[in-house]
Amino acid sequence: MGALKLGRHTARAPLVGALKLGRHKACPYEDMMAAPQPAPLDRERIAAAAQACEADMVRFLRDLIAIPAESCHEGPVVERIRREMKQVGFDEIRVDPMGNLLGRIGSGKKIIMMDSHTDTVGVGDPNEWSWDPYKGKVEDGFVYGRGASDQRAGMASLVYAGKIIKQLGLLGDYTLYVVGSVQEEDCDGLAWVYILKEDGIRADCVVLTEPTNLRVYRGHRGRMEIEVHIRGRSCHASAPERGDNPIYKMTMLVREVEELNTRLRTDSFLGKGTVAVTDIRAMSPSLCAVPGACTIHLDRRLTAGETRESAVGEVKALAGAKGAEVEVLRYEQPSYTGLAYPMEKYYPTWVLEENDPLVQAAVSTHVALHGKPPVVDKWTFSTNGVGSMGIMGVPTIGFGPGEEDVAHSVKERVPIHHLVEAAQFYAAFPLTYVATLRNFRG
Ligand SMILES: [Zn+2]
Repeated sequence: MGALKLGRHTARAPLVGALKLGRHKACPYEDMMAAPQPAPLDRERIAAAAQACEADMVRFLRDLIAIPAESCHEGPVVERIRREMKQVGFDEIRVDPMGNLLGRIGSGKKIIMMDSHTDTVGVGDPNEWSWDPYKGKVEDGFVYGRGASDQRAGMASLVYAGKIIKQLGLLGDYTLYVVGSVQEEDCDGLAWVYILKEDGIRADCVVLTEPTNLRVYRGHRGRMEIEVHIRGRSCHASAPERGDNPIYKMTMLVREVEELNTRLRTDSFLGKGTVAVTDIRAMSPSLCAVPGACTIHLDRRLTAGETRESAVGEVKALAGAKGAEVEVLRYEQPSYTGLAYPMEKYYPTWVLEENDPLVQAAVSTHVALHGKPPVVDKWTFSTNGVGSMGIMGVPTIGFGPGEEDVAHSVKERVPIHHLVEAAQFYAAFPLTYVATLRNFRG
């Protein structure tokens, strides 16, 4: 409970005063600014150390961008990250049988795991890009390229946070694992189910470094991949009355799914659950034949309170689904090491309460570094949190460099100052987390 060393500019007191002037709370975390901060952090030293790493982080980030690594092909990028971890002084670095990279610092009681997935999506049509997606162009304070925000930048900041922790002696009663996970773009959460079940690490919390624009995110909607199959009877298309055309039945179901989407529930924080038909295909011996079967693919986004059972049940209850088969798909692709770890494509919704110690620790870290609370929000897209918290129940939170809305686009980029600020956050977080838990207990 030492005094927070805020350096020369103690912006905290006047800022709290200003916030308290209003009748309404400006932010649910304002009280935390008035409360004693849990960990003595020298924010100026951390800021200076992170700033001194800027050029190295940019160089490392550009190296990572230059290594194409779609899901199941992460081997070379994992090797490149391993080299950098070794160079900056991680205590132990290993690669698990699935191919996830685990860099450890410290050996204290609380197990803090920070994740950056090592795969990226592809580049699509190369003509759509105005620059080489694998060059890591540096311009106007940004680094551009595939993976710049999603999420090579997270890894660059994490590895250098490790260096800063060592350099400034920000060690405590914690063990930090910096994880480079695999296959997130193909099957979010899979690597974390594996790590938490098979690697023998009992995590107290997980920090995801997917892009949040330097905000603290505490959840997102879940999702499912569902297919609905309707069978008919094929016949020569010159005499369709001899068969039973499943496409006609499916069109009725498609209309019902469209209508189902309008009545799905809404959550005030996460937003609305959605369902969309994203593919339709028929199995036919020829384009001159009535097909024997028809399938639709459903992209289902799950809000709070929606589960695998409720989502499947709603589809089965549609009149057009009578006699249809509703299937939740499975992911079975082996990792780059050849290990297959099959999982159903049900990625549960997860949300951490605002007053959870992990959210409070993240807010305290931001206050300690910047003298003001961060925006606390949620992702629109899905992340590995569906595995770490949605399936495995480990408290999970997000804080990352870059903007979510440029991910997977030809405009992908990350502001260089985000690399520096994220490294500060990751370096400062572990001690703040340990102190916050102590405060909660005592
Ligand atoms: Zn991502």
